[in-house]
Amino acid sequence: MSDGDKVIHAFPMSELPENILAHESSKPNDSYYCGHPTVSCDDHTRTVSCVKCGAVLDAFNFVLTNARHIQQAWDNYRQAKAKVAELNETIGRLSKEEKRLRARVKNLQSKEGAFNVHGTDKL
Ligand SMILES: [Zn+2]
Repeated sequence: MSDGDKVIHAFPMSELPENILAHESSKPNDSYYCGHPTVSCDDHTRTVSCVKCGAVLDAFNFVLTNARHIQQAWDNYRQAKAKVAELNETIGRLSKEEKRLRARVKNLQSKEGAFNVHGTDKL
């Protein structure tokens, strides 16, 4: 390597060449956001695209996102079902307790010297 190779030469043109890698966003403006509420699956081109904005979505990400949503929905369903079963068990237990207490009140009312639990004169 000679000393001439280490010299930095000025750019030969007076202006920079035109950028051939320009990128234009498909979004109408920067504040535009599309949640892709409705998608279309084209079985011929094997693409998933948004009906609203026309964006072609990554099919794997689309399936993965939906799988996660479905899994979360099933988890929520299982939790809700377990909660309902728990509440039904509590209702059953409380109903038995109510019957037991009503029978006890009735038994006490029939005895001499019974007290009024309702605050009325009638025993
Ligand atoms: Zn969209």
